[in-house]
Amino acid sequence: MRRKLVIGNWKMNGNRAANTALLSGIVAGLNDFGADSAVCVPSPYLAQCQAELEGTELAWGGQDLSVHASGAYTGEVAAAMLRDFGATYVLCGHSERRAYHQESNALVAQKAVVALAAGLTPVVCVGESLAQREAGQTEDVICAQLQAVLDALQVEQVASIVLAYEPVWAIGTGKTATPQIAQDAHRFLRNCLANKNAAAAATVQILYGGSMKPENAKELMAQPDIDGGLIGGAALKATDFLGIIQAV
Ligand code: PGA
Repeated sequence: MRRKLVIGNWKMNGNRAANTALLSGIVAGLNDFGADSAVCVPSPYLAQCQAELEGTELAWGGQDLSVHASGAYTGEVAAAMLRDFGATYVLCGHSERRAYHQESNALVAQKAVVALAAGLTPVVCVGESLAQREAGQTEDVICAQLQAVLDALQVEQVASIVLAYEPVWAIGTGKTATPQIAQDAHRFLRNCLANKNAAAAATVQILYGGSMKPENAKELMAQPDIDGGLIGGAALKATDFLGIIQAV
């Protein structure tokens, strides 16, 4: 049995006052919904999460990390720094990092390795563009993205990652993948995991991301291989985020 997991990806949004309202709104509404939840926030707000969320059910994490441990890497954030502020999760290879920061499959794989070594749970993001889907390349693309990570991990480490399937054409567009499209991709990804570690494939949580909202979350989450959501826009409003967690 895999536990459901809902992670909010705030992207580059927020300010201290708004964050306090959002975090306290989420925490106040969290009930025994049977799902784990977390927010991945801009690095400057990790300290705020630590101060305001410690002892609550809501975990927190970063949106990216450096592959380097420390040193002359201006602007980078090390895994140990995320840990220092109590982070549990870190997104690796979000499509916006891949698109705007030229993150390759190999770099994303390295980031997952570094995250695990620091005791963070990497949330490895994969997903095809609209052009790739229309060209029938979806499986090739997401398999290559995942395989690079699997190749970099020890067999026993596979169980320690979270995977997120986020079709690029569904992110922030209001166009959600149909439950069947998402389920097919998730099943395919689980089979890819199984080729490396069959036991782990049965336990790794695979989240869906891309315009998930309270209205469509229930049907998506009901799919056998969808274990939760990675939520962008709808994570910025406590009622929407809670509505998705509740849909579990
Ligand atoms: P969205 O973003 O929910 O706004 O589509 C999801 C994501 O990019 O993680």
